[in-house]
Amino acid sequence: MNKKSCSIVLVETSHPGNIGAAARAMKNMGLSRLVLVRPCEYQTYDCYARASGAEDIVDAAVVFDDLATAVEQETLVIGTSARLRSLAWPQLNPRECAASISDHTDRAGNASVVFGRERSGLTNEELSLCSTLLHIPTAEDFSSLNVAAAVQVVSYELMMAGATVSQNQSSEELPAPQQDMERFYEHFFSVLTRLGYHDPENPRHLPLRIRRLFNRAQPDRTELQVLRGFFAAIDKKIS
Ligand code: SAH
Repeated sequence: MNKKSCSIVLVETSHPGNIGAAARAMKNMGLSRLVLVRPCEYQTYDCYARASGAEDIVDAAVVFDDLATAVEQETLVIGTSARLRSLAWPQLNPRECAASISDHTDRAGNASVVFGRERSGLTNEELSLCSTLLHIPTAEDFSSLNVAAAVQVVSYELMMAGATVSQNQSSEELPAPQQDMERFYEHFFSVLTRLGYHDPENPRHLPLRIRRLFNRAQPDRTELQVLRGFFAAIDKKIS
């Protein structure tokens, strides 16, 4: 699969535990690229305890001195903010952002979502590097989420929008290509005909119904092979 996955950038995170928790949130949702800008000393017990299975993401994190350098290669940079800013900045919720990120990475673009400091968020200068502002809707009088919780919400939406590369999806699990499906139907109908169950001269709705059933199931290549093996066994018995 060529689809790129979105990066999560954490700016000047001061609690190692938040970095670990963000890594875990990412891995749960199939994201893997963690970028840290001027982080605290983060490879600590607290960090790994909160990563709890996502230590690989922590260890593979790329560290930069400033946000401008960290996002240099990116073609879509989205900043997050706990406050609704008054300045006229394109502002979207996580679902809307995830849709545009998914579309962007589908076209092989590089996308990043940037998260700010626990105390003070992102500076205006940092936000000026972002094309869009992401705000997670909250209760009106309590809008600031823990930074790793914010990463969780955004990562979840990215996964639901199909913008993450699921860790355990191998190409074999993709639905079989149409060409294989056609060969499968040919084989299926020839067996049904030989069994006397199907009359190609008078098919009624049978071929259509069978196609509808199997198209809905979206079998992968291995599953088609199993079915074709089954037909071959029937073939052998009746010949
Ligand atoms: N007092 C800071 C709070 C920062 S919270 C401020 O007002 O900006 C730390 C980080 O968590 C934020 O920079 C942002 O990246 C993320 N975050 C927290 N709540 C959020 C929300 N409601 N929407 C989007 N991001 C949020």
